[in-house]
Amino acid sequence: MIRVRDDLQALEGYHSPQVDVRVRLNTNESPFPPPAAWHDRFAAALADVQWNRYPDRAAADLRRAIADSHGVDPSQVFAANGSNEVLQTMLLAYAGPGRTVLTFEPTYQLHGHIARLVGSTVVEAERAADFTVDVDAIRAAVGSAAPHVAFLCSPNNPTGLVEPPANVLALLDAAPGLVVVDEAYAEFADWSALSLVAEDRPLAVVRTFSKTWSMAGTRLGYAIAPSWLVAELDKVVLPYHLDAAKQLAGRLALEFVDEMGARVKHVVAERERVVEGLESLPVDVFPSGANFVLFRPRSQPGRAVWQGLLDRSVLVRDCSSWPRLADCLRVTIGTDDENSAFLDALREVLS
Ligand code: PMP
Repeated sequence: MIRVRDDLQALEGYHSPQVDVRVRLNTNESPFPPPAAWHDRFAAALADVQWNRYPDRAAADLRRAIADSHGVDPSQVFAANGSNEVLQTMLLAYAGPGRTVLTFEPTYQLHGHIARLVGSTVVEAERAADFTVDVDAIRAAVGSAAPHVAFLCSPNNPTGLVEPPANVLALLDAAPGLVVVDEAYAEFADWSALSLVAEDRPLAVVRTFSKTWSMAGTRLGYAIAPSWLVAELDKVVLPYHLDAAKQLAGRLALEFVDEMGARVKHVVAERERVVEGLESLPVDVFPSGANFVLFRPRSQPGRAVWQGLLDRSVLVRDCSSWPRLADCLRVTIGTDDENSAFLDALREVLS
């Protein structure tokens, strides 16, 4: 039998089990489809695509639309197939064999996973028991790891915590390499590191169309970063990686900013209702700036509560066996009815 690379043998793939249920609140997607008018505009635009030709390699229209939406230059935008591919491209360019990547755990598993896939050494710094990390801990971790790439995730997945600006500044100040702030959920929070992006700072802020933009099916994410960094990423990513349909889908979505803003507002209001519901139950609730909430049942093992919810056809993310997250479950904010169904089911399971 042929053998995979030695360093990959011990690695496990990324798992997110899907089960057929009535209420699916486990993958942090938007519960709402994109606006009907977006469907119409997209369908009409598709009719004009020259399918025998490669798409625009630079994705110029899409980049310009993303740049305009953030008030930056198109040369500061790098787009790819989901923010996961953005992260992978950054790690291919700035990490890899002989280089070190720093994460603050628990955080989004793919940061460390992709870093290992590309052959980097991963140093995992620890967050406190309440999942925060302070400036001193950041400085200490950077000091011993000297990372080529350091990650923060704000709001952090799976904890929901928004990183205080002081932490991002401390990391930028201390880190010798690239600082990546993964902001897959930033639209649901009240602070973003975007305003810190500047040509003379090795900072990349990563966003996605998968959550706010109701477009997880499109697979489109992007980074806002200094233009010299974007130029390096453009060298590393495969040619024509963004197909014509995706470029159109993303560009047209940006014409519906108000509709997307309304969706975000609704999800945030529902998040507060879910948090209130959770706080009336025997569970620890972690403060969230995202479209999900992490909680820990106090009276029963997390796994048993997850199963109890599943028995009532409600699927949440079972983090209870993940390192540092004993007994924790993560619920995505869904439609009003789905959130009510979740709270009712949880009340029953815990009674
Ligand atoms: N970053 C974080 C923190 C996430 O939670 C996710 C999705 N689970 C991603 C990036 C990847 O999102 P996508 O590839 O769909 O843009």
